[in-house]
Amino acid sequence: MLFQLIQHLPPKITVGTARLVRLWPFAVQRTRGNAAVAVELKTDDEDGLLTFLDAYWDDVIAPLRGHIETSEHSSRKQYPSDPGMVWFSETVKDFDFYRKGLRKEILIDELPEADKSWGGLGRIGATLALHWPAVSKTYEAIAWRMPDATGQRKLDEEATQIVDELEGTFLCRDDRLQSSLLAPRGNSPVLFGIRTWQRDDSEHAAKILIDAPMTEPVSGWMVFETNQATNDHLDEPIEFTVEKIETIKGGHTIINSSHDRFVAFRESGQIALQCQKLQLGDEIECLGLTAPDRTIHIEFLRMKNLKPNRNRPLCPVCNKSMTSMGKNQGIRCKKCGRVSDDHWEESERGLPQNVWIQPPPSSRRHLAKPLSKEQTLQNNM
Ligand SMILES: [Zn+2]
Repeated sequence: MLFQLIQHLPPKITVGTARLVRLWPFAVQRTRGNAAVAVELKTDDEDGLLTFLDAYWDDVIAPLRGHIETSEHSSRKQYPSDPGMVWFSETVKDFDFYRKGLRKEILIDELPEADKSWGGLGRIGATLALHWPAVSKTYEAIAWRMPDATGQRKLDEEATQIVDELEGTFLCRDDRLQSSLLAPRGNSPVLFGIRTWQRDDSEHAAKILIDAPMTEPVSGWMVFETNQATNDHLDEPIEFTVEKIETIKGGHTIINSSHDRFVAFRESGQIALQCQKLQLGDEIECLGLTAPDRTIHIEFLRMKNLKPNRNRPLCPVCNKSMTSMGKNQGIRCKKCGRVSDDHWEESERGLPQNVWIQPPPSSRRHLAKPLSKEQTLQNNM
């Protein structure tokens, strides 16, 4: 949408930085991917630009109102789209407002007033995108399919692999699923998105993929500055002692501390597996977003201090566990009757300690910063 608008701009307008900003993933009427876009436009004729934007709004964007996006990948309630657009004459930055927009629902009447605005709820994301101070940022090169393209997206396999292996790209593949994450799922005009730490790498990688012989033609591409992989949505890690663990329907695990309730979703892979093995009294640390029901959805997890396994010693003769004969009565082998002083044997739990773990690439939030290669390597030891 933004790309088409840019293509139709009248002459003598300079296009500056474009932004793709991910927002609170629990917002009730969010767009798919909780994304908003913005672009910096420079002109000596602001009135002329606003006249163009008025017409573009009426002809192209306003008619999309009420459209219901269907997705086979999402079961959440879909709302009719309510697009919005805002224009600020000057650069605006507001870290507190942006931060709030990643942590809770923002209502339309809370928005700082724009110099001009169009439409409905879409103004919330647009206003937040403009107020993002972009202190930490990454980049994404996005290419769009030709208008008549349908069906399976065609990306050159060799080029896809080259792009994945470039130093500066990230989140290109989910090795576990053996699949590329460059192309979006489902119905979308986007052919691919390549995430990189630096702008130059985005441009370089996009060209490799677009110029490759087996990649389908694109109608255009551009590089966005984004807040993806910045962890901007997360606060300081929370350390706590496990007080209660339950596994709920769907294989998700709920962990309670004395203050909070945490959830590890089955889709979180290693996190879910480790959480199922937790025991009362274990000390762990995690990072995650608080959902509207106040549960904290775990995105990063670290085992700090695990209680060792305690077992009664084995009978040296029969190799069976000895059992207690009662308080201060010692322990005894049921088979041969051998007795011994009352004691326990402790052993390690066999879980990784003091390393951060994260969900597989396809289950991570757009905002989540992937653990570095070094961190992951350490995790696999
Ligand atoms: Zn025995």
